[in-house]
Amino acid sequence: MAVIHLPVIGGVAPRLSGAANGPPGVIPADPLLDNFSRKIRYLRVSVTDRCNYRCSYCMPDELGDQLTFEPRSAVLSFEELERLIGVFARLGVRKIRLTGGEPTVRKGIVELAGRISALPGIEQVVMTSNGHLLGELAAPLAAAGVSTINISLDTLDAAKFRQLTGRGDLARVLSGVDAAVAAGMRVKTNAVALRGVNDDELVALCEYAWARGAVPRFIEHMPMSGGALYAADAELSSAAIRKTLEAALGPLVAADQTAGQDPGPARYWRVARTGREVGIISAMTEHFCDDCNRLRLTAIGALHACLGHDDAISLRDVIRGGGSDDDVVRAIAAAVTGKRAGHVFERTGGGAPHKHMIGIGG
Ligand code: SAM
Repeated sequence: MAVIHLPVIGGVAPRLSGAANGPPGVIPADPLLDNFSRKIRYLRVSVTDRCNYRCSYCMPDELGDQLTFEPRSAVLSFEELERLIGVFARLGVRKIRLTGGEPTVRKGIVELAGRISALPGIEQVVMTSNGHLLGELAAPLAAAGVSTINISLDTLDAAKFRQLTGRGDLARVLSGVDAAVAAGMRVKTNAVALRGVNDDELVALCEYAWARGAVPRFIEHMPMSGGALYAADAELSSAAIRKTLEAALGPLVAADQTAGQDPGPARYWRVARTGREVGIISAMTEHFCDDCNRLRLTAIGALHACLGHDDAISLRDVIRGGGSDDDVVRAIAAAVTGKRAGHVFERTGGGAPHKHMIGIGG
């Protein structure tokens, strides 16, 4: 059997040991089962590398010419996305997250969401957004099949919000949250928890979300971009977040993942006194790599098996090179087989991949 060429993005070739999945070129019995018995069911798809915000910890204007955007021709078309996601669905992927960049700035995002929702096998289409355009787009996105939306909301202070996001408009985002709730979406708010930035707002952010039937979540800051944007002294660990919440709200007890949903990276906690839920994505201090069920496809079709490593396989090159769906499956299997045991982020900021969060899709 011919061994197809698997283009590699990011310098480090994935391991093609084939211990679990057989040699490259042969389609393994389960292309989505990795060498650590983790089954992939969830694909995060960055639909654009562009964003209308410039969050200080993600893609600040100061990165300047270090951040180059892909030309339109390099970005996967709707037809290419549909074809690739269709292959993933046939292999067993059930959940698709549309992310970016900022997914709502991709022209035709509502149509794209509808086309992906209609693919056989896809059970959940969800989105991560900064909320800026949701006032207009929440209802059509919900009608197109987007059932859950995670909206980034780091602070409820308008001046701080503008500073943190470079150019963001808190009032617009809050309207976006309301529009998503009104559209019947399940809404989660995401705050990157940063000491000295929003550690005095953790309870307020929870209360804000709960008042709207949304689930608040906090994300530990991760070192990306070669560590350039990471400040170890701003780290706020999951334990520190819980301690702050418990001081105000009383004990938190571990909650199960919401029934019927494919698990994501957040661990959920319940306020014992009220039953309210809060999620924490503790990538740094209590990492969850053992349960990882995810792959990430960038806007240019690079398939990354881990957020914390730079290696990737270009599915775009496979299809634009005339590859068949079986060739795509082989490339996916190679990425899955090369999926690392876990990230190597360090709390000093070491271990950071060179890729930017904006490019991989958060
Ligand atoms: N533009 C969308 C948004 O704002 O939600 C989607 C993309 S954004 C990269 C996805 C998520 O990643 C956001 O919640 C953002 O706060 C988070 N994020 C970005 N950089 C991060 C970092 N270094 N560590 C942890 N989370 C980060």
